[in-house]
Amino acid sequence: MKTQEYIALEDRYNAHNYHPLDVVLTRGEGVWVWDVEGNKYMDCLSAYSALNQGHNHPRVRQALLEQSQKLSLTSRAFRNDQTPLFAQELCELTGQEMMLPMNSGAEAVETAMKAARRWGYQVKGIPENQAEIIVCKGNFHGRTITIISFTSEPAYQEGFGPFTPGYKLIPYGDPEALEAAITPNTAAFMVEPIQGEAGVVVPPEGYMRRVREICDRHNVLLIADEIQTGLGRTGQLFACDWEDVKPDLYTIGKALSAGFMPISAVVGKREVLGVFTPGSHGSTFGGSPLASAVARAALRVIVEEKLPERSRELGAYFQEQLRAIDSPYVKEVRGKGLFIGVVLKPEVGGARPFCEKLQSLGILAKETHRDVIRFAPPLIITKEELDWALERIRQVLQSD
Ligand SMILES: *Cc1c(COP(=O)(O)O)cnc(C)c1O
Repeated sequence: MKTQEYIALEDRYNAHNYHPLDVVLTRGEGVWVWDVEGNKYMDCLSAYSALNQGHNHPRVRQALLEQSQKLSLTSRAFRNDQTPLFAQELCELTGQEMMLPMNSGAEAVETAMKAARRWGYQVKGIPENQAEIIVCKGNFHGRTITIISFTSEPAYQEGFGPFTPGYKLIPYGDPEALEAAITPNTAAFMVEPIQGEAGVVVPPEGYMRRVREICDRHNVLLIADEIQTGLGRTGQLFACDWEDVKPDLYTIGKALSAGFMPISAVVGKREVLGVFTPGSHGSTFGGSPLASAVARAALRVIVEEKLPERSRELGAYFQEQLRAIDSPYVKEVRGKGLFIGVVLKPEVGGARPFCEKLQSLGILAKETHRDVIRFAPPLIITKEELDWALERIRQVLQSD
């Protein structure tokens, strides 16, 4: 079948909740993907950072194949010999005490919020049903009804009410606003250390450190949503590490499976995750033996292939080269490591046509929030491959 036939099928039978680039991919290897016509592209989105290890990583694939031949699913009604090792390895790697495995990122976020509310009632002593969670404008934490209840993006909410109460929105990057919003009923502050979907928004230096200090002073949990920024993307294992901040809970997902299947987790303090008791929360597939084996391999690749270090070094180079491009369209280049937003001037009229030009030159990137081109290639990328991309990006950002 040809590209246009796949697109016609998708447009007819798939709900239209995305606006994908018109490329139909059929194979991926490392930073490269191929479409059904045999064209080759560099993937500069990495499935929103779910592919930090690159497409089809052989070691993760091997773990998937081996485990799939032994035992894929038990449910948590029975124990298995993979989940405990996944839990131990994840806690040791992240320096945390306990974890709870789920599937999608949104489920990890929901789990963290349940933990925070229950902690608020049982440990902090908030009166029943009064717990508040503070979040930031411009946030992206997923798509469930509760999560979109506290988005500041009208498009995510339209037609989906009524919404879940118990949330307060404050400006991002403003520690004073956090302090002012806290009440005795505040259980948690949930924040992305860098806002991804908002367009790779980096908060002022010292923000997370101030936030940590304020949360400590008011006995408020700090939940860092590192589903996109974590696992090496920004040049540290977690973006919080840039300021030596340790949150009470991390939500992680995306690259936790190297792109092979949906795997997410909440990892954090025993005092918080310890509030869950049998029957209070669960997931049929969360922490399955197959998912656990895949996640263990995905984590090993991050450590052994030094993906955070690669992101830090190559990201610094990539950003410097992008900033050096003399383009009439670019307002700003921002980001950390290989998590980069090229912000176009508002009068340019949007990033989509630039992404389409990049596609025609063999680079897949996606606009976010109209004016931002996000560059987040797999962290296994080489300097030579970045130079290949830069040549084409220069061409697109300098053409008229
Ligand atoms: C992608 C993302 C989520 C949601 O993850 P899903 O797997 O799509 O549910 C939550 N938080 C952040 C910061 C994300 O980038």
